Amino acid sequence: MDDLRRDLESLENPKTKKTLLEEKRILSLEKDGETYKLSYKREGLDLPEKKELEEAFYGVFKNHGIHEDHLLIMSHASPASSPQKEVEKAKLSVGHSRPPKEKRSVDGVKKLLAVASGKGGVGKSTVSVNLALSLMKKGKRVGLLDGDIYGPSLPTMLGKKGERPRGEGKTILPLMFRDMPFVSFGPFVKEREPVIWRGPMLGGVLNQFLFDVRWGQLDILLVDLPPGTGDMQLSLVQSAKIDGVIVVTTPGEVALVDSIKGLKMFEQLQVPILGLVENMSYFVCQECGHKHNLFGLDGGKKTASELAIPFLGPIPLEGKLRDSGDRGHPYMAEENLKGTAVWKSYMAIADNVDKIVFGRQGFFKKIFSPC
Ligand code: ADP
Repeated sequence: MDDLRRDLESLENPKTKKTLLEEKRILSLEKDGETYKLSYKREGLDLPEKKELEEAFYGVFKNHGIHEDHLLIMSHASPASSPQKEVEKAKLSVGHSRPPKEKRSVDGVKKLLAVASGKGGVGKSTVSVNLALSLMKKGKRVGLLDGDIYGPSLPTMLGKKGERPRGEGKTILPLMFRDMPFVSFGPFVKEREPVIWRGPMLGGVLNQFLFDVRWGQLDILLVDLPPGTGDMQLSLVQSAKIDGVIVVTTPGEVALVDSIKGLKMFEQLQVPILGLVENMSYFVCQECGHKHNLFGLDGGKKTASELAIPFLGPIPLEGKLRDSGDRGHPYMAEENLKGTAVWKSYMAIADNVDKIVFGRQGFFKKIFSPC
């Protein structure tokens, strides 16, 4: 408890840059059963600074292995006043929503891209996370929306499982992985009846994730979609202007051109398919260093050409990629892995996406508007 208090007191007031100890801001820190109660003086702090400081409190508790569900943070306007209520958690309001008359853009977001797959388990979420991080390495500001209601794995992959975004009135404050804002249906899925995750209600909830989240200024917002084509895809297409869809497949699935063809639904709805990523393309043996094309050669390329969509690149099968996702330390955030085959693949794919989306404007147009 002493260490915890010391770490809290060593935080700085975002406004004055003095430590909380210097300003005697921590009023009390107690443990009541499983709950840690922290009370502090908020005098002189406006709302963003208060948020920033409380974010820092969460970070310190987390470093001490204490989850935010076991926290009660109370701010006092003056030592004499009564405690304020617990930090507000984001809420999703549920109700039927009609498809909007006009598709909207997400405020502050230059390009909205979706990541889709014909079926589950091909590595779509892994690609979403690592591609987002690779694009950030290229200087892009990227956000991630985990729209995979059936298997929301982004919180686990980003080491934020169980954390829930907080709210400010109607606005949802996204969680952060380093400089990348993200939201996931994960923390909300458990507590709602499965029925709301279908049909028109789903659209309403998705809209909140698109339009009520404080995304800030982003070059790209990536949406990780559930596999196949269902209500989520339709809701997304109906409500938002999507700039392109990235299709993820494995060489095994490549044989299933038909299942990928299903994704051509996007094109029929005037959403361009930006290109195809072939995940788990080959395996490099640690012992002999040889590259093994376990599922044949160039299947992705051939499929892309058959479907007349760009091939964005292959990603090898690599145990560390699976492991890093499971541990919540995404591969492309681990600088010591720089230069590996997986690393290079992701950077090459990010390069292609960047060029298609931002680089050669005419190129994008030419591919998708043949006439
Ligand atoms: P999806 O979103 O398509 O359901 P996931 O991204 O959850 O798929 O990936 C499924 C599993 O495959 C996860 O355990 C993930 O870590 C693993 N995986 C994904 N891509 C690779 C790869 N290139 N090499 C090894 N494992 C991978």
